Amino acid sequence: RDEAEQSVRYPQGNVLLRNLTRDFPVVTHGQGVHLFDARGKRYLDASAGALVASVGHGNREVVDRIHEQLLQVAYVNGTHFTTRVTEQLASRLCALAPPGLTRAAFLGSGSEAVEAAVKFARQLWVERGQPERTKVIARVPGYHGNTLYALSLSGRPHYKTFFGPMLAEVVTTLAPYPYRSGLEDYARDGAEHYVRLLEETLRREGPHTIAAFIAEPVIGSSAGASPPPPGYFERVSALCREYGILTIADEVMCGCGRTGRFFASEQFGFTPDVLVLGKGLSGGYAPLSALLVRQEHLEEMRRGSGSFMHAQTYLQAPAMTAAGLAVLDYYERHDLVAHAARVGEHFQRRLRKALLPLPHVGSVQGVGLMAGVEFVEDTSSRRPFPRARKVVERLLAELFERGLVLWSNTGHADGTNGDLLMLGPPLVITEAEVDELVDTLARGIHHFFQ
Ligand code: PMP
Repeated sequence: RDEAEQSVRYPQGNVLLRNLTRDFPVVTHGQGVHLFDARGKRYLDASAGALVASVGHGNREVVDRIHEQLLQVAYVNGTHFTTRVTEQLASRLCALAPPGLTRAAFLGSGSEAVEAAVKFARQLWVERGQPERTKVIARVPGYHGNTLYALSLSGRPHYKTFFGPMLAEVVTTLAPYPYRSGLEDYARDGAEHYVRLLEETLRREGPHTIAAFIAEPVIGSSAGASPPPPGYFERVSALCREYGILTIADEVMCGCGRTGRFFASEQFGFTPDVLVLGKGLSGGYAPLSALLVRQEHLEEMRRGSGSFMHAQTYLQAPAMTAAGLAVLDYYERHDLVAHAARVGEHFQRRLRKALLPLPHVGSVQGVGLMAGVEFVEDTSSRRPFPRARKVVERLLAELFERGLVLWSNTGHADGTNGDLLMLGPPLVITEAEVDELVDTLARGIHHFFQ
């Protein structure tokens, strides 16, 4: 039996470079919000993979469209050619985008698009004859990816442990996080409080040394789905505009309908100069990220050195953009953003009702179909569990056993907060599936803390 189990767990002879302290069930197929493994076990994918599978698993409509494109042409060099699918995806996304964002580029991962966004801002300041504008303000908590620039911008200290100095031009400011703000009336005073902190950062660094400000409109994996306080991004946008600082919205996780609007920036009053998408954009049917920028900024580059100096092998590759276009068509045909908004309200309501009364649940937060739960040792003092107890890791393992898959890699990791977990099911989830998800989660938490 052991041997049979081994071969199910490590079918390729265990040669992948990965964490070997855990077992990895072999997934054979998926359908909608469910995944199935080689033993026939069914999982409810409450994290859409890594908040990726927006249109659900095994989506035949999407796959057929991608298949058609792959048979025609899968790859062309983006510096020589373009393709209809790429052009269509660009124009359709720009038509949906916040005003002014009328130019798009496509890359493979969120990290790559974040790198490109920051390089875009840096190049623009050099073209403008202000090369001293080198710094980028990022927020903590916040996550922007795992390549060097993106990681430098990320408030995830444990990811950085082994990799020497990060980029020195990154400056951080505190991001709003209601449960730990210390404010009595967060909705009323949150914007004022956190904008003041940003102003202090600007004063300390000197606004004219800052190239760009980057933020997730709704903070994802580093804070378990934390939306901003009312008015925050309106004021941040205005402040950055006052000093000419370029604003970058990282919607890799919260974009593409997850919050109940296609662009989370619009929902929360953020008017960015550069917008980055990933994950849900292709729903996992191909690696795909996007960068949306302003025409006038591109014009400045054209008049200067000629173009934005960034190319990669898979830039605008049709195998990727076909997935984006097929997914976008699926969104429109099924009115998926409106569905996500509707089911999202039900999800948020049900989660709070079922979880807040449970032991050790400090906070339930989120918007649309992304939500986070913070667990604490003591809900009245909000004191976190000691790090060494790894409570959320064990809880997630228990829920996994029960067939519920959650996002497992969250938390500030510096001991300033409790244990976080995050939920972000496929946007195609139904109300009945939300009820199943919440009930399984609540039962699992109850049992675990008994
Ligand atoms: N930005 C945000 C907000 C993210 O959540 C992530 C991934 N979790 C990234 C960037 C990086 O994307 P990728 O892992 O595709 O490089």
